[in-house]
Amino acid sequence: MRYVSTRGSAPELGFTDVLLAGLATDGGLYVPAEWPALPAARPGATYAERAAQIVQLFVGDELAPTTVQRLCNEAYATFAHPAVVPLVQLHDGHFVQELFHGPTLAFKDVALQLVGRLFDEVLRARGQRVTIVGATSGDTGSAAIDGVKACDHVDIVILYPNGRTSDVQRKQMTTVDSPNVRVVAVDGTFDDCQDMVKAMFNDAAFRERMGLSAVNSINWARVMAQIVYYAVATDLLAAPIDVCVPSGNFGNVFAGWIAQRMGAPIDQLVVASNANDILTRFFRANDMSAAPVVPSLSPSMDIQVSSNFERLLFEMNGRDGGVTAEQLHRFRATGRLSIEPDQRAEFVEGRFQAERIDDAETIDVIGRTYRETGMLLDPHTAVGVGAVAKLRAAGALQHTTVTMATAHPAKFPDAVERATGVRPPLPPHLADLFDLPEHVTVLPHDLAAVQQFVAGAFTH
Ligand SMILES: *Cc1c(COP(=O)(O)O)cnc(C)c1O
Repeated sequence: MRYVSTRGSAPELGFTDVLLAGLATDGGLYVPAEWPALPAARPGATYAERAAQIVQLFVGDELAPTTVQRLCNEAYATFAHPAVVPLVQLHDGHFVQELFHGPTLAFKDVALQLVGRLFDEVLRARGQRVTIVGATSGDTGSAAIDGVKACDHVDIVILYPNGRTSDVQRKQMTTVDSPNVRVVAVDGTFDDCQDMVKAMFNDAAFRERMGLSAVNSINWARVMAQIVYYAVATDLLAAPIDVCVPSGNFGNVFAGWIAQRMGAPIDQLVVASNANDILTRFFRANDMSAAPVVPSLSPSMDIQVSSNFERLLFEMNGRDGGVTAEQLHRFRATGRLSIEPDQRAEFVEGRFQAERIDDAETIDVIGRTYRETGMLLDPHTAVGVGAVAKLRAAGALQHTTVTMATAHPAKFPDAVERATGVRPPLPPHLADLFDLPEHVTVLPHDLAAVQQFVAGAFTH
């Protein structure tokens, strides 16, 4: 299996090089040179077995099947539910797939528990070590740290926007006391953090000297691991389904698009956003124009420039990297992405839908769902459930629908309590979170200061 860059001028690489590179040298994102077909599930397969079967398609012959299976077994043994990502019914024809039973209570664990193990395996074999640098709007950071904190060959520095994460999210990062982990609070937004990470990667000398690598949602291996639960949902429901995905950087819903492209019976892909609705505006009205980030109750979706959208754009452009690079440069310069209306229509109509749910509606959905079903939804999942309710009322969804439940309600207890009067308790493995000391460095929104910190962060 070979990988190509969405901007068309970086060298083709195999899986392990793509895993370690993160971003391509031309600034693009790696995607497989062709999409494989989804194999049938073995009846009775465990989640880890289905995962290994799908992951192997993308790894090719670079890792042995016994190794891939062992890493999947280890990764998914960290989940607190035996089904790993159970499907739970909410209403007639509406399920949620609970992706939040991993160590840090958000769906990002599904990918990062595997990706951390893939990194350590590949680096051990090569006798190398890397420094992962990442930006987080809350959930990626804790999941990435948990995924690599036991790795022998990986150091990690995570930047987050100071004061814009929940207390639980922050403490899940800052209470980790491990010699290969550093956490930085930046006085700025998530997009500021992400821009600084991109700038460090674009500094070739720094990138080389530090052995920089990425595990934020631009890393192909994360998207790859997320394909698995879409396949599992269609294995279990065995008829065409619609899926709804609370979206920010577009990594999760893009994995759903891949599953569909590989042949999983998914009809509609619903992109749900909060008040930061650049994706909704694009899918509904071909308006992709950046606006300032507005803090919301679902902070992991407080994003205006969705980095993984580039992978979809590449597909929309018939996999023409030159055209994609040109469009993205113009987007950077003007804040507006222009896509020919007929090109967009051909790709989007009948396949993608989108809906925006603001904070007041989010609270309303959490309250209503609790009263009707007894289930507590976190605010991100509530954006998805609210989007489905609106689209169903409009007659826009015809199949059984699966909404991706992307975080555990205890990760966002204030919003849940406000909506329901119930404060969801942390599960047992995190019960002592608020008693542990925090380790964090606060830095200004200043690339030089951050770069200097990264350079001196580790002494081994
Ligand atoms: C990261 C995250 C999202 C957004 O996922 P993307 O892949 O960035 O679109 C949604 N909900 C939660 C809880 C998250 O952590």
